[in-house]
Amino acid sequence: MKCRHCQAELALTLVDLGSAPPSNAYLTEQTLSAPEKYFPLRVLVCTDCWLAQTDDYTQADELFDADYAYFSSTSTGWLSHAARYAEKMIEQFKLDKDSLVIEVASNDGYLLQNFLRAEIPCLGIEPTASTALVAEKMGIPVLREFFGEALGKKLAADGKQADLIAGNNVYAHVPDINDFTRGLNAALKPGGTITLEFPHLMRLLEHTQFDTVYHEHFSYLSLYTVSRIFEAAGLRVFDVEELSTHGGSLRIYGCHQDDARSITQAVTDMLAEESRRGLQSSEIYETFQVRADKVKDDLLSFLIEKKRAGSSVAAYGAAAKGNTLLNYAGVKPDLLAFVCDAAPAKQGKYMPGSHVPILAPNVLETRRPDYLVILPWNIASEVKQQNSGLAALGTKFVTAVPRLEIV
Ligand SMILES: [Zn+2]
Repeated sequence: MKCRHCQAELALTLVDLGSAPPSNAYLTEQTLSAPEKYFPLRVLVCTDCWLAQTDDYTQADELFDADYAYFSSTSTGWLSHAARYAEKMIEQFKLDKDSLVIEVASNDGYLLQNFLRAEIPCLGIEPTASTALVAEKMGIPVLREFFGEALGKKLAADGKQADLIAGNNVYAHVPDINDFTRGLNAALKPGGTITLEFPHLMRLLEHTQFDTVYHEHFSYLSLYTVSRIFEAAGLRVFDVEELSTHGGSLRIYGCHQDDARSITQAVTDMLAEESRRGLQSSEIYETFQVRADKVKDDLLSFLIEKKRAGSSVAAYGAAAKGNTLLNYAGVKPDLLAFVCDAAPAKQGKYMPGSHVPILAPNVLETRRPDYLVILPWNIASEVKQQNSGLAALGTKFVTAVPRLEIV
C-alpha cells in the first residue's frame, strides 16, 4: 500500500486491530442472524510525510452505506461549541451580509444556523439526504454532494468562492485528502480563511486512544502532516488552536500561499512540540500496539473477574469508539449485558460484531448494573453527572481508556 498523500510505500504499522464490521453497521433483530461483513482494521504510518492512515482495502461508499445517520444537533455540548465558533469567526474575520460561509459536511445545520441568524450568507455541502433536509428546512441552502476538487472548481466558476470555509470533523474522514484539500483551495476567495478541526494524533499517541480508530476514520493527523498536505495543494496553515473536543483536537487556520498573513507563534510552537515528542520518528509508533493491548487486556480481565464474582456490568454510549474497543477485545453479551444510548435511532438495535443490545438510558433505573462502563471516555464526566442518581443507588462508573479506572 502507498501513502494517500505522498505515495511513499507504507511499511510502519501503528496498530493492528484485527478485523471488524464498519462501526455504524448496527444490526436489527432481523439482521442479527445474517452474516456480517468484516474488514481489516489497521493503521499504517508513512515514514516520509508521517500521515497515519487506515489500510486501503474497501470502497468508501460501502462504509457510508448504512441507514443510520448521525445528527450533530443531538449533542448539546457540540451545539454550544458550534455557536462559540461562529461568534469568534464573525468577529475575527469581520463577516457580514456580503460574505459567504461554506461548511463542508454541514450535517443538519448545527453550525450554519448561527451564521444564518447573523444574516451572513451561507452554503452547506452535505451528501447525506436525511441531515441535509433538516438544514434546508431551517433555510440553509445545501448542495447534496461530496466535496473535492471538482466541486471546489465548480463553486469558483459559479462565483461562489467563500470568505470562510469550515470543516469540523470531516478532514480525518475524507478518503482522498489531496483532492479534498485542492477543493478547499479552489473554493476559497482570495484573502479568505479555511478552518478545519480534527482529533490530534499527538493526543491519540499520548493517551493510547486506539479506540478512535475505525474504518471511516481514514487519517490520524498532526499539524506537521496537515501543513505538508496544505502546501502541496497551494495553501498554508497560518494559525492553530488546541481544543478539548474528542480527547484533544486541533483547529487549524489556512489561507492561500500568497496570502499576506504571517504564520503565528502558535504554529511554530506546536510544530516544535510534535517534533519534540517524536512524531517524525518511528519509535513512538512502534511501541503503540503494546500499550493498546494492555488497555484491551485490562478491560477483558475486569469483565471476566466481575462475571465470576456475580456482578452485573453494562455500558453507556453505543458509538464508534465502543465498537472498536468491544470488537478488538472480543466482548460479547455474556460479559457486557447491554449498552445504553440516548439516540432513539440506535435503541432496539445491536452493536455490530459484539451483538450487545442497545437500550434506552431509562432502563438503568430498573436494571441498576453494579458497574457501568462509559465507552465514550471523552464525555465521561457529562454521563456521570446525568446519571448521578444511579451512583447513589450503588452503580460504579468505569472508563477503560487510557487505563481501566473506576471514576
Ligand atoms: Zn506520505
